[in-house]
Amino acid sequence: MQYQNSLAFAKQLDAQDSLSHLRNQFHIPKDNPENSGGNEWLYFTGNSLGLQPKLTEKYVLQELKDWANLGVEGHFEAKRPWLNYYEFLTEKMAKIVGAKPIEVVVMNTLTTNLHLLMVSFYQPTKTKYKIVIESDAFPSDKYAVESQLKFHGFDVQEGLIFWKPREGEDLLRIEDLEQIINNQGDEVAMLLIGGVNYYTGQFLDLKKIAAIGHSKNCLVGIDLAHGAGNIQPNLHDSEVDFAAWCTYKYLNSGPGSLAGIFVHEKHSKNKELPRFAGWWNHNKKTRFNMRMPFDVMEGAEGWQLSNPPILSMAAILASLDLFDEVGMNALREKSEKLTGFLEFLIQEIETHKIKIITPSNPKERGCQISIQIKEANKSLHQQLLSKNVITDWREPNVMRCAPVPMYNSFEDVFQMISILKTLLQ
Ligand SMILES: *Cc1c(COP(=O)(O)O)cnc(C)c1O
Repeated sequence: MQYQNSLAFAKQLDAQDSLSHLRNQFHIPKDNPENSGGNEWLYFTGNSLGLQPKLTEKYVLQELKDWANLGVEGHFEAKRPWLNYYEFLTEKMAKIVGAKPIEVVVMNTLTTNLHLLMVSFYQPTKTKYKIVIESDAFPSDKYAVESQLKFHGFDVQEGLIFWKPREGEDLLRIEDLEQIINNQGDEVAMLLIGGVNYYTGQFLDLKKIAAIGHSKNCLVGIDLAHGAGNIQPNLHDSEVDFAAWCTYKYLNSGPGSLAGIFVHEKHSKNKELPRFAGWWNHNKKTRFNMRMPFDVMEGAEGWQLSNPPILSMAAILASLDLFDEVGMNALREKSEKLTGFLEFLIQEIETHKIKIITPSNPKERGCQISIQIKEANKSLHQQLLSKNVITDWREPNVMRCAPVPMYNSFEDVFQMISILKTLLQ
């Protein structure tokens, strides 16, 4: 696509955008929310907390109303009965991550889910116990695998293998992972890799990662916190063993909302896998008989423990209904254009201070662009904030910027870069 560096061109792209109406379905924060004439923020942190769909209020209020009117009977009599409410989410969520319904369920929160999945898929032996993770993994994932190593009695220094970018580079190379597994794969029990890196925005080839891990019988797990609703991970075809993601980033389901898990169909009937149990992964047909011996459910549902919070699920359903209406293909198509426009405008800024560390190939990234800014510090971020530009600053000098195809416009991107340019020059 040939881009032009002008506001008129940005407006033209918005006029041609078949998804531009979606912005209207979201609450866009304003500098003065009490005053309807307030200026809308230029919001580029949907990778951290997605904006609120206008539908959310209606869905959450419905559950509050049913609770008020029906009390415990809401489990059966609510407009959407609470008993199996999670099932309303499954198919829509499965489509977003490219999975079969039996492979997906919404439950708990992300780090909790990683641990529950590792109970099953991190089964170390004395000689095959190591874990491979990317060197700049999100801290929670790193803490989680470290604590798993300790929990099983292993030394963290010895047990953790980092897949690192090469000296002088920012991105991971798949050949380097291959090398690690070729050399040390016999000692590795599991890989836990961020499918889209939170820092660089790099989208890794999940199918290749799975093949590399499986070549030495290592189990492969993927954290899709920055992938779900952003890229199309095709989880089923990728053959990874398990995955987990949160719903408050690109999935716009509200702060601290529940998370998704994926367990590949090849494990769905394996009742021998070690796992923790509660009444919610017991056979749903006999769950309320209460005195039955534990009988684990097949598929991802077999990792649930508790009856889930309906108010949070209502917010997820509101968001998934929007995703379902639009579809990931259309979103990705717009996303590539929108991020391409951002990349183009960044490259047009005449300064030696800026370097994009996100891959330039649209197939190797989602919507986020991470910009390294020399001679800058967090005060730049503060200056942007004071001009209603919401981006995200990662020490020492990286600004992450995520134009989200659901609600960001080409004009947003143009305005944001105009402000950044002024601040840099
Ligand atoms: C956002 C994020 C988390 C956050 O974990 P919670 O358990 O939801 O607090 C964890 N890992 C990654 C990779 C993330 O991007």
